[in-house]
Amino acid sequence: MDIFVALWIGACLGSFVNVLVHRLPREQSVVAPGSRCPRCGVSIRFYDNVPVFGWLWLGGRCRSCRAKISLRYPLIELLTAVLCAGLWWRWRPDLAWSAAAMVVAAALVAVAFIDWDHFIIPDELSLGLLGLGLLASPINPLLWGEHWLARLGSGLLGAAAGFGMCWLTAEMGERLFKKEAMGGGDIKLMAAVGAWTGVLGAFDCLMIGSFLGAVYGLSLMARRRLKRSDPIPFGPFLSASALLNFFWLIPPDFLFRLTL
Ligand SMILES: [Zn+2]
Repeated sequence: MDIFVALWIGACLGSFVNVLVHRLPREQSVVAPGSRCPRCGVSIRFYDNVPVFGWLWLGGRCRSCRAKISLRYPLIELLTAVLCAGLWWRWRPDLAWSAAAMVVAAALVAVAFIDWDHFIIPDELSLGLLGLGLLASPINPLLWGEHWLARLGSGLLGAAAGFGMCWLTAEMGERLFKKEAMGGGDIKLMAAVGAWTGVLGAFDCLMIGSFLGAVYGLSLMARRRLKRSDPIPFGPFLSASALLNFFWLIPPDFLFRLTL
């Protein structure tokens, strides 16, 4: 496979990510009807529905009502494309695993933006990823073991660890800050991350994700843009660190040296 093919597949997945981000929180079907302009409702023609380029040659406006189409649509497509090409590059020549990793990347981008907008992580994504992760465990090089049974066990253990560590963090956060720090959606997402990246991946993801979330929250508080009682979505930070896992699982001793 060529890198341009990987980019293109990623852009098409990104186009579907836009559908997920728009429709999943509204509990609409993600397969039918086809894409429509949110303002005038006219369905978008197949030749305008091309990832990234469609937005460019329409000049960022709907063909029929000229309503502005958010720049976020092509940017999400571009982001997914770059991530998918990167994953293909990282895992080539293992095509089956690269394809699985690309699907996960697209789902994580959707999680990040849905949680950012609505403070929810749909079960379709978190539990869907959990199920897919266990199904894909035999071909997953991030999991411990060579035999498929060992990898399945390591995926199950990772899911349990992700769930447990996140639940514990949420409980402690609630006692410490007297407010909900992490929700049930985050806990289910962490179970999925563990199923894909094992115990070590779940640990890395929670550490780095919480660190990024805390930096974001503190920087907002410093600029007085956020009160202590305001919620922060953790999904985007957990997704970002889970994506990092798919490129590189940080060994535990490295993480400890970093914190000391
Ligand atoms: Zn329109």
